[in-house]
Amino acid sequence: MAFDIDFTMTVGGRAVETSGRHDVLNPANEQVIAQAPLCTKDQLDLAVAAARRAFPGWRDAGWDERRGQVAALGDVVLANLDPLTRMLTAEQGKPLGDAEAELRRAAEWLVGTAGLSLPDSINEDNGVRRSVTRHVPIGVVGAIAPWNFPVALAIWKIAPALMAGNSVVLKPSPFTPLTTLRLGGLLAAHLPEGVLNIVSGSDDLGAWMTAHPGIDKISFTGSTQTGRQVMAGAAPTLKRLTLELGGNDAAIVLPDVNVADVAPKLFWAGFRNAGQICIASKRLYVHEQVYSALAEALSAYAATVRVGNGAEPGTQIGPVQNAPQYRRVRDLVDEAAAQGFRFLSGGSQWEGPGYFQPVTLVDNPPEDSRIVREEQFGPILPLIRVGSVDEALARANRSEFGLGASVWSGDIDEAERLAGRLEAGTVWINEEPVTSPLAPFAGHKQSGVGVENGIPGLAAYTNTQTIVTRRAAGRPDGSTVT
Ligand code: NAD
Repeated sequence: MAFDIDFTMTVGGRAVETSGRHDVLNPANEQVIAQAPLCTKDQLDLAVAAARRAFPGWRDAGWDERRGQVAALGDVVLANLDPLTRMLTAEQGKPLGDAEAELRRAAEWLVGTAGLSLPDSINEDNGVRRSVTRHVPIGVVGAIAPWNFPVALAIWKIAPALMAGNSVVLKPSPFTPLTTLRLGGLLAAHLPEGVLNIVSGSDDLGAWMTAHPGIDKISFTGSTQTGRQVMAGAAPTLKRLTLELGGNDAAIVLPDVNVADVAPKLFWAGFRNAGQICIASKRLYVHEQVYSALAEALSAYAATVRVGNGAEPGTQIGPVQNAPQYRRVRDLVDEAAAQGFRFLSGGSQWEGPGYFQPVTLVDNPPEDSRIVREEQFGPILPLIRVGSVDEALARANRSEFGLGASVWSGDIDEAERLAGRLEAGTVWINEEPVTSPLAPFAGHKQSGVGVENGIPGLAAYTNTQTIVTRRAAGRPDGSTVT
């Protein structure tokens, strides 16, 4: 399905055309479905200028006014759910049900974040002086989003940035710009002119934003490698930064699990969104007492799962989103085969068009293999046999990443003790990774800098300001003149 729509950027409340455009493909069939704008440097300047003009009014509107406006954006998402769902599936590849769930999550985030507050805190309040600390907006936020959850992860930035009183210039990934451009235009129309601006273009546009003197903060979600470039690019202007980066989440399976119960949950922890989730389980450390039973249950479950075009009813796993990522996943599969690793399922190559990879489970590869050490970000997952909980813990923590992790056990106390020793920003016990607008989400180690969501995530879109008011005439040493 190609879209007969003129996709435009939104700058200063108006739809903006560009002279250059680039093709956007459907990863399920490699057909061009639309052309997306290629923002020039001059147009980025205009977007930043529009955001700067809008900033003082939005800042001064105050928390309660913004709260109403941000929550109302959730209704805009829901009112356009059907066409946006089909558009998201066409450009991203995920099944229609998952695309709808992503859009519903975006609406939930807008409403949930609008419910948060950052009250002033009183440091000192006596006859001599009053000292109050407030959270004030930073200014113009440049938001840069990836292609795996293009809408939800853009909203993770837009909602708190706007709530805190900033104006925004958002850039989607060039692989998945369409739904964001469309939705962004709809959302911007419900806000004062210039408060939300959407630009699109190549990776260069992200680098221009990072270096732009008119942008005060960059909120970036993407790979660790690009995150390093963003940090370097932001250094000359000392921008505030939030970096949500890659992960290589370990799932630790203890010997007391009910294998039949946990197998489907572990499957989806690893393979939802075709494994393209930053917090997907990417290494399964399974106690030797349940290794064979779990390996069998997972491969039996994998055989029941339907991989295909996300637009077709019944599809549970879509294609890998883009050609470079597909080549990377194929390379990992081919290398695993060349090294003689056994596949519990998959491992083969897909016939026909589209960036499909059959669900692939690798049987106990060595700890130093690429399939274990690197973030796969695709439908391929290693199962690793461990002899003890301590061994699992040590191997799980032996990583440059520290985004998430999970523990699977019938003994909640033991699972919680283990969770506390895992070097990861979020640890889930006995469930597939879930996130919430109320729960802080922060990568440890090279999985990120800063935090998103919850009160700390909102505070990350503010500067701290302390106002100290002298109350009574005093001596220089602070004592009161009586
Ligand atoms: P990516 O780093 O290639 O691109 C992310 C965004 O950055 C895109 O919009 C891209 O155009 C832009 N970009 C590219 N080069 C840039 C530069 N030099 N300066 C500024 N911007 C630049 O990431 P991706 O392939 O789109 O996403 C997959 C990665 O994102 C995975 O590693 C995944 O784990 C990670 N991710 C992390 C989280 C999280 O919350 N921690 C969530 C989702 C995805």
